[in-house]
Amino acid sequence: MNPDRLIGKVEGEYPGPLVIVIGGLHGNENSGVEALRQVFEVIEKDRIPIMGKFIGLRGNIAALEENLRFIDYDMNRCWYDHHIHALKFGQAGRSSSEDEEVLDLLEWIQAESVGRYTQKVMMDLHATSSENGVFLVIPQEEKNLSIPKSMKIPIIFGLEKKIGGTLLNYFPNEHFVSFAFEGGVIGSDIAVKLHRTGIWDVLYASGSIQVEREERHHDVMEYIRNDHMPHPGRVSVLYRHAINRQDNFKMLPGFSNFQKVKAGEVLAQDNTGEITSPFDGLLIMPLYQDSGNDGFFIAEEILD
Ligand SMILES: [Zn+2]
Repeated sequence: MNPDRLIGKVEGEYPGPLVIVIGGLHGNENSGVEALRQVFEVIEKDRIPIMGKFIGLRGNIAALEENLRFIDYDMNRCWYDHHIHALKFGQAGRSSSEDEEVLDLLEWIQAESVGRYTQKVMMDLHATSSENGVFLVIPQEEKNLSIPKSMKIPIIFGLEKKIGGTLLNYFPNEHFVSFAFEGGVIGSDIAVKLHRTGIWDVLYASGSIQVEREERHHDVMEYIRNDHMPHPGRVSVLYRHAINRQDNFKMLPGFSNFQKVKAGEVLAQDNTGEITSPFDGLLIMPLYQDSGNDGFFIAEEILD
């Protein structure tokens, strides 16, 4: 197990939840790692008591060092049972950088998960290349929504049906309440603050800390209020526009998350010409960076 993976770990004297937070599964999204570092610093300085165990792990160490999304393959698109099985039992080559990273991260998570906890929670911190990207991504089958709902930011369901192999897709298998937290624009100062707020939220909502931190919700809410249009509460993903590098996909400028779009509206262009939205809906994660295989998603609001 690579010791560089550990950002911080606190084990309390009293029973409580296991909270695992991962930053930098995409190596160009350093904000989660920085936020974790800052939270552990505050816990130590203020001697904040932790119930159970709280641990912060780096995702893709080699890619973080290079500030790249990944080296050989996307570490958030590879968590298929067959791939993990092949890695564990040596059928895969282990020749790529991410083969080693995936195995090592899995060993860390499994080693740290041993023991009795009131519940097991895993949050995976990400940032997006488009504006207004503050939301949670939750697998459809996740029934335990009390922690995500307490964070009071939009929740996206059904993404796992459009993109396979995310870390989230794998860990419900291992009895975790797991979700991803998208905390704003890659490389922005606000992203670190948003991630920090998200980490405190989860620690409080899971029972890991007993007193709410003052900054809870403040940054998130201020960002959401000041910056953009109203957010939906919960949305379900209808459509993914998949891309390849050869497509020369280019999103038209100015789109942001949760922006309303109409069927037939031109959103992007590539080698084949204009790309339009197939549905009326809400645009999610329009791609404004060079790497990645998802051009954009269209979602619909879930109404109660
Ligand atoms: Zn990411």
